[in-house]
Amino acid sequence: MIIMVVINANFNTFPEIPILGYVFSGFGDEYEYTIDNIFRKKNPPPCPKCDNKMVHNGFNLHTKKGMGGIKIGKYQCKSCGKNLEEDPSVWEELKTLFINLLGEFYQMLRLNHVAYNAISKLMQFIFPQSKSTIFREFNRAMENAEIPPLENILIVHYDEQFPKKGRTQKYRLTILDAKTKRPVADELFDKKDPETIKRFLSANLDTSKPLYIVTDFYSSYPSVLKEVFGDNLIHQYCLFHLNKLIVKDFPRYTSIAQELLKYKLLNIFYNREKEIEMLRKLELEEIEMNQDEEAYKSWIKIAKKAFYKYLHELELARRRNKENLELNSLEKAEENFNELMDQINSFDEEIKKRLKMINKHWMNLTAFQYFEGAPATNNAVENYYSTSLKTHRKKQFRTEKGIIYQMKLASMKRAGMFDGVKPTLFDLFGLFRPFAIH
Ligand SMILES: [Zn+2]
Repeated sequence: MIIMVVINANFNTFPEIPILGYVFSGFGDEYEYTIDNIFRKKNPPPCPKCDNKMVHNGFNLHTKKGMGGIKIGKYQCKSCGKNLEEDPSVWEELKTLFINLLGEFYQMLRLNHVAYNAISKLMQFIFPQSKSTIFREFNRAMENAEIPPLENILIVHYDEQFPKKGRTQKYRLTILDAKTKRPVADELFDKKDPETIKRFLSANLDTSKPLYIVTDFYSSYPSVLKEVFGDNLIHQYCLFHLNKLIVKDFPRYTSIAQELLKYKLLNIFYNREKEIEMLRKLELEEIEMNQDEEAYKSWIKIAKKAFYKYLHELELARRRNKENLELNSLEKAEENFNELMDQINSFDEEIKKRLKMINKHWMNLTAFQYFEGAPATNNAVENYYSTSLKTHRKKQFRTEKGIIYQMKLASMKRAGMFDGVKPTLFDLFGLFRPFAIH
């Protein structure tokens, strides 16, 4: 038989017995819930001061606004006059269950960028709460949230974002675990000088173990990382970022010949053979069209339009098949690169510089080839940024805390803290039903 509180039901409380049984399930049968709805010990305890037996002496009413209340029994010692109240933790726990679930509800709304004002309006339908109460409860829930730690960190992304607090520039430094896509560290700073980055990295990563890290091409990274990790460092530069630099090396309005060269450079690390094939055909036409300047002007427009349309089709096909742009093997990359290096003297200065740069950092551009599952780009962290502080939102937050909490929410989501089956708010409203104050 389950030992539980003796519930002295009357006509009104009778239907609520299952709920009361659940609420009081942590208490033994030395407790009672009286016909007058008082929660207390059946036999008053001995006086903590003089050890004489105490007597029942009324109650204190504990309430939760909008939800109801409970009468917690009081005892008195007839010998020495000592007053004692029964432990009200049963009520506190019930309130905590409710408040925590409400807090989680606010977190979910904030994670999806719902404004406090809008949350307050939504709550009018559920459990009316002012905007300031919601703000306070959300902040409390954020302070209390503890994110479970990550294990076996080896492959990480590092990137920076520059959100604004009002007009003040802030610097968000992020280390993202490549495997779980969860942040190892995600913090806000007033500056991002080498010293700040060094402190951030050494505080959050084990510098005595091998580390594979992906970054963009910011010029101070190699020396900063080398200093922190020494020989344990495997540094991959983001290939997606390299692609962007290559595209910028060319003018906005390119000839087909220039476009072909651009794709040959992009083809070093990614398979762009299809694009190159089309551009080669167009280039042959271009050579002929170049005889007539006027005719060329209208021809190039049509040719470029056809090429962009083809690019778009290739991209749509990849998206349909849920594929990324295919990375070339190490051998293929070397072959494509060497072919360009053989002709380096025929290229413009910008392109010469780019090829020399690729040559110099070859190891940092191909490190991913040597490690199973190692990423070649920082797309994962870019994607993480876009889900936590969206670019149009990162412009301004009223408070620094607002930015930090938004970062923490994204991390909690990646940790799976919002997954799983939870009680509904209505389940919890049900638990309060027997305690309604009429
Ligand atoms: Zn006493």
